Amino acid sequence: MTVLPGFLCDEMLGRLCRYLRAAGYDALLANGGRSDAELLRQCREEGRYFLTQDHLAQEHKAARGVALLLPQGDLDRLAAALGAHFRLDWLSHAFTRCLEDNTPLVAADAAALARAPADALRPDEPLCHCPACGRVYWRGSHYKRMRAKLEAWQSAKREASAPPVTAV
Ligand SMILES: [Zn+2]
Repeated sequence: MTVLPGFLCDEMLGRLCRYLRAAGYDALLANGGRSDAELLRQCREEGRYFLTQDHLAQEHKAARGVALLLPQGDLDRLAAALGAHFRLDWLSHAFTRCLEDNTPLVAADAAALARAPADALRPDEPLCHCPACGRVYWRGSHYKRMRAKLEAWQSAKREASAPPVTAV
């Protein structure tokens, strides 16, 4: 099994972080107040890439080999840049992590099933739940919206000309 890259997104990249989790990538979001130095150290210790759009981050010595400068632009542009840089697979591991806290999901147990709304219970679609926060995940409208975006990113990968990601 190949090891998937892990990420720490700076606090401005909340939506990208959520979509990385939706695609099954290990992605943390920096919460405010932590210095770039601290975040970079955590990345080194945990083998993560630090994703940022902030040029200042690259002035740190500790940023070398860890920080990646993403282009400016909307979510689709960020996804195209990152997807091309890491050859991300947006679909193969999709919906295997909690969108809120990044924890790998497990098959829903009886207690989790009891919390799910009746219209989420379909015999052909197994539900998952997050062992950390207890959220139950099912294939509702929210899932379908996110899934459509991941599919669009996956098929856009075949087109060339993604905006560049700058390694520091
Ligand atoms: Zn959770």
